[in-house]
Amino acid sequence: MRHIAIIGSGPAGYYTAEAAQKHWGEEVRVDIFDMLPVPYGLIRTGVAPDHQSIKGVSRRYEKVALTDHVRFVGNVTVGKDVTIPELRELYDAVVLATGAPNDRQLGLPGEDLANVFGSASFVGWYNGHPQFAGLDPDLSGKHAVVIGMGNVALDVARILAKTEQEFAGSDIVTHALDALRTSNIETITILGRRGPHQIMMTPKELGELGQLERASPRVDPADLPEEAEDAILEPGLRKSVAHLRGFAAIPENIHAEKPVEIAFDMFASPQALTGDGKVEAVEVERTVVEAGRAVGTGDTYTLPADLVVSCIGYRTSPIPDVPFDERAGKFANDEGRILPGLYCVGWARRGPSGTIGTNRPDGYSLVEKIVEDIDSGALGTGGRSGREGFDQLAATRGLDLVTFRDWKRIEEAETAAAREGAPREKFVDIESMLRSLN
Ligand code: NAP
Repeated sequence: MRHIAIIGSGPAGYYTAEAAQKHWGEEVRVDIFDMLPVPYGLIRTGVAPDHQSIKGVSRRYEKVALTDHVRFVGNVTVGKDVTIPELRELYDAVVLATGAPNDRQLGLPGEDLANVFGSASFVGWYNGHPQFAGLDPDLSGKHAVVIGMGNVALDVARILAKTEQEFAGSDIVTHALDALRTSNIETITILGRRGPHQIMMTPKELGELGQLERASPRVDPADLPEEAEDAILEPGLRKSVAHLRGFAAIPENIHAEKPVEIAFDMFASPQALTGDGKVEAVEVERTVVEAGRAVGTGDTYTLPADLVVSCIGYRTSPIPDVPFDERAGKFANDEGRILPGLYCVGWARRGPSGTIGTNRPDGYSLVEKIVEDIDSGALGTGGRSGREGFDQLAATRGLDLVTFRDWKRIEEAETAAAREGAPREKFVDIESMLRSLN
C-alpha cells in the first residue's frame, strides 16, 4: 500500500490524485489537505465568477474525491497544524499543490497607498476568499487602472465594467455585487509595458470585452503594428491581436453610447503611484519594445487613478522546511522533485502559467516521478502509517477536520442561500463555513 499526501485541493492537487488512482488503483490511499474547509482552490476563488462553465471542471474533481481511496481533509494548515517533516514520516510521498496565492510586487514607490491592490486580493475579494473578503475597495472614484496585459487583468477589467444584469447566473459574492452596483468608475485603463504583439491575453477572454453592455474597449490604432506583421504570430495570439484591431476600429458614436471605457494603454510602464494617503495617479513612462523588452523612452505622463489593481503575476507561499526559490517565487524543484518523497506540482512547481488543463499532464507526469523514486528504492520499502497515523496525530492536536461529506453539506447550505438564478452564495469566512455543519 502506498500513502500519498497532497497539499492543496485545486486543479493540480486533484489531477495528481486522479493520476495516482489510475496508477495504483486499490493499492493507494490519497489524502488531499486544504487550509480552507472547502475544496477546489483556484476553481472556487480564482476563476472569475462570470465564467461558470470553467468552474464546471470541479465535477471531474468530485468524481475523484468520491472514489473510495481518496479523501479530502479540510481546515488543516500544513506548516502550522502539521509540519512537512511530520507528513513525510507518515506518507510515502508528500506533494505540494499549493498554487501561487501571493501577489508579485510591483516594487514601485507608492505601492502601499490605500486603494492599491494586487490581483490575488482583489480577485479574492469578489470571489469571497476568506482571506480577502474584507478588502472593501473604494469604487467611488472615476478612474481605475489595471496593470498588466494577461488574462487576470482582463478578468478584473471585465468585472469592474459589468452591470448587475451581466452578473446573472454568476456566483459573485453579494458584498462585491453590492459594491459594484454603486461603483462610479467610468474609465478602466489597462496598462501594458509592451505592445499588442506581447499581450498574454487569450482570444476568447479578450473578445468578451467587445460584448459588454455598458462598456466599450478602446485601442489607439497608432499602437498597432502593420497588419502583415501579425502573420508571424502563433495562431492564438494572432486572434487576440485581431480583437485589438477590431477594438481600434470601433467608431466614436459607439463609444459615446457606452458610459464606461476600457482603454488599452500600451507601451506604458508604471514608474510610481502617487496620492495623499490614497492613490490618486500613476506616473507612467512611454516605452519602445527592443528585442522583446520594454525600454523606457524618458517620455513620462500622469494617469489619474482612484483605484489600482496590479495583475502582474503570483508567487507561491513558502512553507517551513521546504527549499524555496526566492527569485522565481516557487519551490526549488527539479521537474517536480524537491527531495525524494517531497514533490510539487502545478503553479507551485512551474510558476503561474498555463490554463487549468495544463495541470492535468503536470499531475500525471509527477506521479511518474514518484513511481520512479519508488522503483529506485529512494522512498524506502513502504509500511508507513498514512492516514491512520495522521488521524491519530490530528486527534492529539484537537484539529477540527472537515471531510468531503462535510463539504457537501456546506455546499448544500451555499446553494440554498443563492440569489435567484445564481448557483450559490459562498460563505466568505471560515467560521460561517464550520457553523453550517452544526
Ligand atoms: P500573465 O499572463 O503572466 O500576465 C502578466 C502581465 O503582467 C503581463 O502582461 C506582464 O507583462 C505584466 N507585468 C509583469 N510585471 C510587470 C511590471 N513590473 N510592470 C508592468 N507589467 C508587468 O499573468 P496573469 O494574468 O496573472 O495570469 C496567470 C495565469 O493564469 C496565466 O497563465 C493566465 O492565462 C491564466 N488565467 C487564465 C484565465 C482564463 O483562461 N480565463 C483567467 C485568468 C488567468 P510582460 O509580458 O511585459 O512581462
